[in-house]
Amino acid sequence: MWTFGNYPRLPEVQVGNWITLHRCPDCTAYWCSVPHEPYGGYTFLTAWPYGSELFEQLNARDNATILHEWHDAVIRENWMRLSAEEVSWVEQWRDRTYRHYNPIDRGPEMKQPRFIHEVRELARYANESC
Ligand SMILES: [Zn+2]
Repeated sequence: MWTFGNYPRLPEVQVGNWITLHRCPDCTAYWCSVPHEPYGGYTFLTAWPYGSELFEQLNARDNATILHEWHDAVIRENWMRLSAEEVSWVEQWRDRTYRHYNPIDRGPEMKQPRFIHEVRELARYANESC
């Protein structure tokens, strides 16, 4: 995972619904980027473990809700394993969102996930599409 403070600008493979699929030209790994509030100024990149076909299929379903819920779950489950500097950036972002309007804190008024509560649940959709 890369955070807004240091994410690499990778070529775009597919622009989805507020989520973009990128591919690293060096190692061919896929990454998904999402600009988070406030003002879309807090982009996170999360490693996409499947191909572009599954990204395209899930982007076309329910306004890409499954992709967004998976991306949020990756942030929630991994941010504490970032470097100390990056953790401090994420803490500042949590403050900017009142420790409420972000996928880590998920304040009570925020919509609860419908499809993906934990990262591992994405595998269900990958199997279903084979
Ligand atoms: Zn690479």
